[in-house]
Amino acid sequence: MKELSDIGLIGLAVMGENLVLNMESKGFQVSVYNRTTEKVDNFVEGRAKGKNIKGTHTLEELVKSLERPRKVMMMIKAGPAVDKLIDSLIPLLEPGDILIDGGNTHFPDTTRRTEYVESKGLLYIGTGVSGGEEGALLGPSIMPGGSPKAWDAVRPIFQSISAKVEDGTPCCDWVGEKGAGHFVKMVHNGIEYGDMQIINEAYHIMKELLGMSADEMHEVFKEWNEGPLDSYLIEITRDILAYKDEDGDPLVEKILDTAGQKGTGKWTGISALDLGIPLTLIGEAVFSRCLSAIKDERVQASKILSGPKPEFTGDKKAFLQDLHDAVYASKIISYAQGYALMGAAAEEHGWNLNYGGIALMWRGGCIIRSVFLGKIKEAYDADPNLTNLLLAPFFKEVVDKAQAGWRRVVSKAIENGIPTPAFATALNYYDGYRHDRLPANLLQAQRDYFGAHTYERLDKPRGEFFHTNWTGRG
Ligand code: NAP
Repeated sequence: MKELSDIGLIGLAVMGENLVLNMESKGFQVSVYNRTTEKVDNFVEGRAKGKNIKGTHTLEELVKSLERPRKVMMMIKAGPAVDKLIDSLIPLLEPGDILIDGGNTHFPDTTRRTEYVESKGLLYIGTGVSGGEEGALLGPSIMPGGSPKAWDAVRPIFQSISAKVEDGTPCCDWVGEKGAGHFVKMVHNGIEYGDMQIINEAYHIMKELLGMSADEMHEVFKEWNEGPLDSYLIEITRDILAYKDEDGDPLVEKILDTAGQKGTGKWTGISALDLGIPLTLIGEAVFSRCLSAIKDERVQASKILSGPKPEFTGDKKAFLQDLHDAVYASKIISYAQGYALMGAAAEEHGWNLNYGGIALMWRGGCIIRSVFLGKIKEAYDADPNLTNLLLAPFFKEVVDKAQAGWRRVVSKAIENGIPTPAFATALNYYDGYRHDRLPANLLQAQRDYFGAHTYERLDKPRGEFFHTNWTGRG
């Protein structure tokens, strides 16, 4: 073992341990520390035994064991604990040293911390790390932002531990200043919510409307995973549907239908509302989890409220193709909305985001990894100033082809009383976005009527405002 390690990592929970093992496997020596120091000993004597991993019992010892500029990565519970740790580390570090937060931090905290840490002469990186436990060990998607001067020193470590796409390009590149990395990670998580909701709606329709068994649904997801929907989430859905409980029944049907939400989906929705971006699909995905969470109330309501009994007539095979198309088109809308949000945030915060590069970072290692992201990268490579993904020729054509089936799915679901908030909101966004005239003229008239808010006219230059005395009263 060398006298000084290449990097230090604090926080030996699921993510931290696996990231350390990943770094070591790529030839980096890592010093580790954890608040509960028994975990350091257990790790060093256990999974890290015989490896170039140095256990330390104090922050001083950790910092002293590192090569300059020191790189200290925090992989701890997000929130005030990170602020406390930063304050404990600052006096131990020297100008040019780099503090890295790899947790699921809300991006405004990273912006604030970057400014604070830089004011102390140090450098800061707030990075998204996606891919869960397995990603951390074998290659996550890494989305770093913060102090640009820190990137050169951290790049070799991050790019060698990250996932790689087929041609070997790492799923990790510099995202932007201050909270940009954590912002992009937040949008990634929001998109993950959306992708999962879309898949869940397809499952719900297959089960309730088409009356399919888990094995039959497994076959459909298997087929879907061999086409343009090829992705990690479709793949695990395929496997989940095939998984049998001890009694031979599908385990998935025994799982309580209430979902939690840790906050990143909610943050994405709030950010969209703040920036005035219609991020409707992710919003519906968050609200669907909220609706699922009120299980007892739903059970009560199911005994009182009525609706149609799902009944399918027609060609089941053709409808499954429609369902495929509804999934594909809704997914395109969700990404179009997510990218629009990133565009608005980049403008607001002065970030120079590389949209094709972001698609590439998500292409491997993370939960939303998919073949589809390669197409998004191509769209932004062809036109880095693309205003909306729907306007890229490839996606325009896919939606053109998919929309008839997508509309049939939404209509059938509504007729049969099966909730499909993601499919429906995606279609409504599409129809709204492609309308040159929306009914907001009436809305402006209403606002002017009750509040003298004024309006602009189609037949006059923009920026000229009018008010009408709608009642004729004085
Ligand atoms: P976690 O359960 O979020 O956090 C546990 C770790 O944080 C332990 O090492 C714990 O130390 C430390 N910690 C908690 N409070 C602390 C405090 N006040 N001061 C110092 N240390 C403190 O661990 P995780 O699941 O590995 O996640 C780590 C970070 O990565 C989190 O921000 C998480 O949101 C993010 N993340 C997680 C995943 C995932 O799949 N799990 C994926 C991506 C990102 P003790 O052992 O002393 O309690």
